Amino acid sequence: MLYIVATPIGHLEDLTARALKALQDCDAILCEDTRRTTLLLQKYQIKKPLISYHQFKEKQSLKKILRRLEEGDNLALVSDAGTPCINDPGQLLVQECIQAHFPFTVLPGPCSLIQALVMSGFATAQFQFIGFLPKKPKPALQRALFYPGTTVCFESPQRLLHTLQVLDTLDPERHIAVAREMTKMFEECRRDTPKNLAAHFEKTPPKGEVVLVIAEGKIPPVDDLEELIATLQTTHGLSLKAAIKMAAQLTHTKKNVVYKEIHGKKE
Ligand code: SAM
Repeated sequence: MLYIVATPIGHLEDLTARALKALQDCDAILCEDTRRTTLLLQKYQIKKPLISYHQFKEKQSLKKILRRLEEGDNLALVSDAGTPCINDPGQLLVQECIQAHFPFTVLPGPCSLIQALVMSGFATAQFQFIGFLPKKPKPALQRALFYPGTTVCFESPQRLLHTLQVLDTLDPERHIAVAREMTKMFEECRRDTPKNLAAHFEKTPPKGEVVLVIAEGKIPPVDDLEELIATLQTTHGLSLKAAIKMAAQLTHTKKNVVYKEIHGKKE
């Protein structure tokens, strides 16, 4: 049986009783970085064989692990922090277990995106998680600003300032939360406009791990393509061509259909 086990994202006491039992009772632990997992195991005086299972070797390690599961071993999968499979290895293994009808279960626990969403105080009824922002974050941020709900994403502390500056050019009024070092000694969650946050982090460069949360904004009705394109042009500074492309993406419509609709109306 495979146990997918969520582990602390900072504070080592955030390990659930079930997670502790699974780690104590299993035959071996699959982990990303053996040094990180050893720290957790030392805290709970657990001694178990560790099997390295990380992102870049996920495929290669699969065969051996599946054989052990087939033989009836109890294995626990952990990542360096938080919930495995959430921007961490594990998804392939889960898919293989489903295909091979091997039993597995997920032991819930810490997850930084949920922690940051709740800490932000922004609407939780509808939210999206978009993983790590790309190095050039503008297109992803533009899409996020039009999402009808809260957006949660991971960002590196080195790029946070630039991302906030981009957000300021796109939507200066938007409410943003930066959740940093959650559950650790220097935990903080700052909620403000992109400009004020940028000013703060320019003076005090952020350290540690960061989750960025973008509150829902005012969205034009997406069924009115003309209004959507006008908004993209005026508030986001896009050219007509870029606004048509973006509107097509946002409304899941083909670009030439949007183009015809807009130009048809103008003729
Ligand atoms: N699977 C993990 C989870 O469930 O939280 C996420 C792994 S992802 C590779 C690592 C990113 O999660 C970090 O770059 C940061 O954005 C976020 N993160 C993890 N722990 C955090 C913490 N204590 N405070 C703020 N962000 C954290």
